[in-house]
Amino acid sequence: MQLGNLPRVKLAHLPTPLEEAPRLSDYLHGPRIWIKRDDLTGLALGGNKARKLEFLLGQARQQGCDVVITVGAVQSNHARMTAAAARRLGFEPIVVLNGEPPDQAQGNLLLDRIFGAEVRIIQTDDDYIVTGVVEDLARQLRRDGRKPFVIPRGGSNATGAAGYLGAWLELLSQANASGVRVDAVVHASTSGGTQSGLYTGTKLTDSGVQVIGISAGPRREVVTTRVLGIVAELVELVDLPWRPHPDDLIVYDDYVGERYGVPTPACLDAIRIVARTEGVLLDPVYTGKAMAGLMGLIAQERFTPDQNVVFWHTGGQPAVFAHAGAFQEG
Ligand SMILES: *Cc1c(COP(=O)(O)O)cnc(C)c1O
Repeated sequence: MQLGNLPRVKLAHLPTPLEEAPRLSDYLHGPRIWIKRDDLTGLALGGNKARKLEFLLGQARQQGCDVVITVGAVQSNHARMTAAAARRLGFEPIVVLNGEPPDQAQGNLLLDRIFGAEVRIIQTDDDYIVTGVVEDLARQLRRDGRKPFVIPRGGSNATGAAGYLGAWLELLSQANASGVRVDAVVHASTSGGTQSGLYTGTKLTDSGVQVIGISAGPRREVVTTRVLGIVAELVELVDLPWRPHPDDLIVYDDYVGERYGVPTPACLDAIRIVARTEGVLLDPVYTGKAMAGLMGLIAQERFTPDQNVVFWHTGGQPAVFAHAGAFQEG
């Protein structure tokens, strides 16, 4: 495998802790639950995008770029972390965000502004329009003699996913060191980079672990197609002799509710339960829905009490403050 040969910059505090959550396990009458704390990657309040950005911006630096452009929702964690990472490396950040501009910037959008990113908000849900805006921007910058580097939504391509292939190896060595056999990993999945890296990692190490992606928005088929596309490129990128099988990829879209970015009652409950059993904060867009998914799977007796399930905390907490209204009931 060629992971070590890819250009990379150091942005995240690694390894992130792997913590047991015994009160949560008791409360749910569940398996042994562990939380992989990628909310503690340490880049501008942390989250899963730090691992991807190490490889993405490694490539940007190798190519001699000076501006980084990315896209996301108004409350994009990826945009916030890209803005901070770009500043850290001396690149100028531009973030193209789709959605409704709020009256007052909160959460991630507030942080985009503090990091001095050029923020363009476009009121559309159409990805083609967003892509068109980014392409126009990049073309204009090139015409002005700049060297833009464009990062796709969520940092999810093979280069970004390499960060999560490395993350799987990190978890495996932590689990081995503590004598824990991991049976399943549950995490929020949307643009697919995280699941692509983890899934490829479990296959590569032949560990028989189920990587269960809980969609925070898109339909199951959409996430599955994204993940399989990225995995196919990732195995080329790091030169693995193995090819993915569409039939063993696990994605659930039962916990999305109305749509992306709108917290469900089960999501808000999951956030309160984890806060009150473990003192760990989840977020209302991704990890709350993913935890509602884990709780649903436990209720369906998907795991036995002696199994070890890792809940991969992918971060996202700044969005709590942009959803303050949802928590007014307590
Ligand atoms: C981006 C994000 C995810 C989803 O990860 P993908 O790699 O895009 O599937 C999950 N949780 C949080 C907090 C995120 O910001």
